Amino acid sequence: MRIHDVAVIGAGPAGSATAAFLAERGVDVVLLERARFPRPKPCAEYLSPEATRVLDRLGLLSRIDAFGPARLTGMRIVGPGGASFTGRFAGSHGLRAYRDYGLALPREVLDALIAEAASERGARLRDGVVADLTAVADDHVDVTVGTGTTRELLRARLVIAADGLNSRVARRLKLSRRRSCRRVALATHASDVAAMTDVGEMHVASFGYVGIASIGHGVTNVAIVADLDRVTPLAPPERWFRKLLGGFAEVSRRMERARLVTPVRAVGPFGRWTTRATTDRIMLAGDAADFHDPFTGEGIYAALHGAELAAAHALSALERGRFGARDLAGYDRARTASFRGKWLFERLVSGAVALPAAFDRIASRVATRQHLADLMIGIAGDFVPVSRLFRPWNVMQLVI
Ligand SMILES: Cc1cc2nc3c(=O)[nH]c(=O)nc-3n(C[C@H](O)[C@H](O)[C@H](O)COP(=O)(O)OP(=O)(O)OC[C@H]3O[C@@H](n4cnc5c(N)ncnc54)[C@H](O)[C@@H]3O)c2cc1C
Repeated sequence: MRIHDVAVIGAGPAGSATAAFLAERGVDVVLLERARFPRPKPCAEYLSPEATRVLDRLGLLSRIDAFGPARLTGMRIVGPGGASFTGRFAGSHGLRAYRDYGLALPREVLDALIAEAASERGARLRDGVVADLTAVADDHVDVTVGTGTTRELLRARLVIAADGLNSRVARRLKLSRRRSCRRVALATHASDVAAMTDVGEMHVASFGYVGIASIGHGVTNVAIVADLDRVTPLAPPERWFRKLLGGFAEVSRRMERARLVTPVRAVGPFGRWTTRATTDRIMLAGDAADFHDPFTGEGIYAALHGAELAAAHALSALERGRFGARDLAGYDRARTASFRGKWLFERLVSGAVALPAAFDRIASRVATRQHLADLMIGIAGDFVPVSRLFRPWNVMQLVI
């Protein structure tokens, strides 16, 4: 039976980009996706400025520009008590991202383009199939591929699981654990939202937050993240959406005349964290490797940059013919080195979101100190190191 070099499970940004980077180096890679493209994905659909670097490497920027995405020059943050600040990517800190703006466009378009890039480089994309890991043998991994009516066995020397939030592969291999804080999200597209500008917005309430941002063509993405106990899983998502939206005074006002142009889609709960991203013959990528609260909103950048790391380490394993957990552990170390600062920032922000009074106090301090606003938005935009925020003078201005 033929043994592929690599089977990638999941063709979201992480899986497709990893497959593209491997295929362009001549690797025999099969990319397995449950949905059929183009497919929607509940998400706030904003790409941090650094994500454009990886998309350019994939040769996709001109195609994305041709679609007409929104260009976001910064972010506005609004606390539960109304304190707010706006940080710009081209900020006072003098550091510059690959581009001075982030892009926002429907995942239906973006994900299909990245999957197409993988196919064009020679990856064999099979969408509409459910993949499942069945056995890890000495010299290969068995993956079952089901279409609903048929099941077949596929073999690969290495499997990269990029099967997203709550990854089945990570659970099966006991690489992920449940966490206590559990949240869900509801996302939709709306037209006629009042007073939209060229910045994305995050509005915080005591029970969660809502992100709103233009995604081009007069459409606004509206994504609410709320504690799991605030929603009734059996009620239609649109009903929870309208109820939760009422908790964000400014956004509800601006949406009085808005029309929802796509169904409200639910995702979650975000209830797991991953202990490591490798084991024998298996690597995890994207949300499967680690999922964080979307408030700082750069899961797509993490998926794309993580794909660069995954492909580099997979290539080296293929060249050496060594696929044991120890041989792949360099990938875990590379991920930690790349993402550690951002993970810390993300935890601090999530902690502040859970403490409304503290969040408002910080937001009102940052509102009068533009350099802090720009630093924070630059960290969230993946091009300012978190250490810049923790210089003693900045910390004093934040807390005293
Ligand atoms: C509410 C919300 C808002 C967000 N907003 C932003 C934002 O504005 N900007 C940002 O950068 N990030 C955002 N994120 C995070 C972002 O959506 C993820 O980090 C990103 O999608 C991760 O990409 P991925 O490829 O790892 O996973 P996914 O995009 O989830 O792709 C996984 C793929 O695997 C497929 N799959 C799963 N199981 C199987 C299987 N058994 N067989 C075959 N295929 C399978 C799925 O169908 C899916 O296509 C947000 C997340 C949420 C929940």
